[in-house]
Amino acid sequence: MKTIKELISESLTEVAASKDILRDESIKRVYRACPDLKEIDGQILEIRNSRFIAVIDKDERLIRRFDIAEEELLAKRDRIMQRNQIDPDFDSLKVICDKCNDTGFTKGSDGTPKVCSCRKKELEAAYEYSGMADYSSYKMKNYRDDYLGDAAGRKRIKNELLKVLLGLADKDARTSLWVYSAPPQTGKTFLVISICKTAINLGKSAYYAKCEDLQNIGTDTLEDLKKIDFLVLDDFADSVTMTGNVGSILNNILEVRAASKLPTVLVSPFPKSELVNKCDMRISGKLASAGLISKESR
Ligand SMILES: [Zn+2]
Repeated sequence: MKTIKELISESLTEVAASKDILRDESIKRVYRACPDLKEIDGQILEIRNSRFIAVIDKDERLIRRFDIAEEELLAKRDRIMQRNQIDPDFDSLKVICDKCNDTGFTKGSDGTPKVCSCRKKELEAAYEYSGMADYSSYKMKNYRDDYLGDAAGRKRIKNELLKVLLGLADKDARTSLWVYSAPPQTGKTFLVISICKTAINLGKSAYYAKCEDLQNIGTDTLEDLKKIDFLVLDDFADSVTMTGNVGSILNNILEVRAASKLPTVLVSPFPKSELVNKCDMRISGKLASAGLISKESR
């Protein structure tokens, strides 16, 4: 799996190449419009090369001659530039996106980094790498607190999940494992995918998967799931932990993540107490001390 940071870092080479091309085009355009400038720039370059050789030869007299010649040419160049109203920066590299200075990241009002709007392509690719290829329309901006009523309750749950993501939720709970429990058809999947995408928008590595699909995920990705910043496992149920080798895969992931205090959210339609009672024993031990996010959690 590739993270948003890796994708943006890979794109920097492409951005640098585009900047070079834009500069070359600008130089060509200006030289075509003003051949005198092209000629004088050629002469300046020649003088600088000759001066370089004189420096190696330690020929002080020659160096001084080249210095004077260059000064004269530069003064002549200034006059040509002014007369033709040429932008003095026409031959320098220019920033393509002035929002992020081509770094791909901007800073939010609170100073936290955020992926710049010029990197939509990289964001979409990161969502796909992070298990969310099938949910392109699930985004935080489309999430409605008042969907299905209980706007206050939905807003509180959303904020609790955001706190978990930002590492602000475990102050009292002292846990990095969370169970988000709510009845079926209450918009859980939409919400957790929006949160997962928010994580990526903040430059974090995140992954969304259905719990039972853990047995179909490749071993490289399973290894990544142990160390990414934020993990959401949806459709969690006691029966799933007894399916195939899901129990042992999940137990392994949770153990490694807990050791590094990395936030993990298990999303389930069942009450936490029921899950603790019925789950695979290794999982249920971890669930007992997990934090709870639900309508009744406060
Ligand atoms: Zn940008």
